[in-house]
Amino acid sequence: MALTRRRFGLLAGAAALATPAIIPVRDGAYAQAAGVAGRPRNVILMISDGAGFHTWNAASYYEFGELGRQVYDRFPVKTLMTTFPLNTSTRPTNDPAAKVGYDPAKAWSTEPMAGEFVGEVRKVPYRNLFAGYHFVRQDYVDSAAAGTALAAGIKTYNNAINFDNSGKPVRMVGDVAKSAGKALGVVTSVQVSHATPAAFSAHNISRNNYAEIGREQAETGLCDVLLGAGHPAFDDNGRYRAPTSDRAFQYVGGPETYLKLTTGRTSYHWLETKEDFEALAAGTLRLSKEKVFGVAQVATTLQYQRAGKEMGNLNANVPDLATMTQGALNILSRNRNGFFLMVEGGAVDWAAHGNNTGRIIEEQIDFNRAVRTVVSWIERNGGFEENLLIVTTDHGNGMAYGPQSDQFAFQPVVNRGRGNLPEVMWHYDTHTNELVPVWAAGPGSERLLAAATKIDPHVGLVGWGDRPRYHDNTDIGRLLMELVGGERRAAAN
Ligand SMILES: [Zn+2]
Repeated sequence: MALTRRRFGLLAGAAALATPAIIPVRDGAYAQAAGVAGRPRNVILMISDGAGFHTWNAASYYEFGELGRQVYDRFPVKTLMTTFPLNTSTRPTNDPAAKVGYDPAKAWSTEPMAGEFVGEVRKVPYRNLFAGYHFVRQDYVDSAAAGTALAAGIKTYNNAINFDNSGKPVRMVGDVAKSAGKALGVVTSVQVSHATPAAFSAHNISRNNYAEIGREQAETGLCDVLLGAGHPAFDDNGRYRAPTSDRAFQYVGGPETYLKLTTGRTSYHWLETKEDFEALAAGTLRLSKEKVFGVAQVATTLQYQRAGKEMGNLNANVPDLATMTQGALNILSRNRNGFFLMVEGGAVDWAAHGNNTGRIIEEQIDFNRAVRTVVSWIERNGGFEENLLIVTTDHGNGMAYGPQSDQFAFQPVVNRGRGNLPEVMWHYDTHTNELVPVWAAGPGSERLLAAATKIDPHVGLVGWGDRPRYHDNTDIGRLLMELVGGERRAAAN
C-alpha cells in the first residue's frame, strides 16, 4: 500500500509527459485539465454500477449512433482498472494474502472450451466456448468490496462495507472529507443503503445489514445530502402500498429510523416527492434543515424494477438521476471548503444481471445524462481547474459481446444505429473479473495515468486498444482520500 502511494508522487510528472502520446488532443477536449498543479476544490466520482465494456459502447450506439460522442470521451485521462477483491469470502478471513488476481493472457484466451457454466442469478446455463470467457466469470468482486476499494483504497472480502479483512472498520473518503471540513454527498438510482452508496456513507461488516446501514446513514449525519430509492411505502412501479412488516423499512434504517427521518427528528430535511426533488434541483425548495435526506417514492430502483422487460413506459412519479445529482450539487456547493460527491447509476448492474439489453441502455443513458449535468455544473463553477471528475464502474457484469461471439471470441457489440438496439449475445448473468474503463479530468486525474503501469495487450479485441494501460481500483480510493483530505496548494479560495 505504501509502495503505491509513493508511486503516485514519483510518477506524476512522467504521466503528464506521457499523456499526449495516448490521448490525442482534439478541439474541445479537456486537455488543459491534466497536469494542473494542486488539489481540486471539489471531487466527484460517478459510478455506473456493473458496466462492462459492452455497456458503455451499446449505450453510445443507441444514444448517438457511434462512439466518441459522450462528454467523458473528451476527458484527457483514460485508463483501465482491475476490480478483483482480496478474496472471495463473504466474511472476514483474517488472512492478508491476496487470493485472486487478474491475468490478461488468461482473460483474453481464445482457446476453445467445451461444457456449460450455470449462471448465478438467472440460473440458466451459459456455454463455456472460450477459456477467456470462463476466466473472467470467476473470482469476481461484489459491489461492497469494490465500493470499499474505491472509497477507502483497500482490498477486502466481498460483502465488506469499509471493513477490512480482519473485521475492523476503516476510514473512507467520506470520513476524510468531513474531517477536512468539506461537504459529503451520495446519490444513487437504487436504495440509499445499497452496497455502493453505503460504501461512501457507512461502515458495516456486511452489505446485507441494510437496516443497520440505513440507521448509520440517518443517525450519524455524515452525509450533507443523501438521495436515492428504497421507500418503504411504495412498490417498484411507484404505487403506494402500506408497509406490512419491519422488513419493508430496512433500506431506510427500519421503522423507528424512518419515523425519525419523516418527522424531523434527525439532522436531515426529508423529501420524497418528485416535485420536491425537482424543486431541490431548481434551488427553490424550502429546507427545514441544512442537510437533506431524499428517498424517492419507489421500492428498490427508480426505474429498472418496474413491471415488464421493455424500454419506455417509465415510472412517472420519481426523479431521474440527473435531477437528483443537480439537487445534490446545489446543497454541496454551499460549503466554501469544497465537497466530495459520489453518484451511482445503480440499476445498470441490475439490468446486466437480467441480460436485459434495452433496459441496460436505458439505465446507462440515464447515467450519461447525469454526467452531462455534472460537467455542465463544473463548467459554470471553476471548470476542470477547480474540480476533479472521475467516471467509471465498479466491475463488469454480464459479458455481452457481438451476436456471433459464440463463434468469434470477443466479437464486439454490433452497432445498429441511433435509436436501435445493438446486436449482442450475453455470456453471463453476474459480475466479472474483467478490466473496466476509467475517464478522468481535473487536478489529480493525471495521477491515475501514473498509477497505470501495467499493460493489457489484448483490449483491442473489443475496440479499446487505444488505452491498454491499467491500474487497480484501490489506486482511485487512495487518490481520492489524499486529494479530499489535504490542504489545497492552488491559490484560489
Ligand atoms: Zn457493483
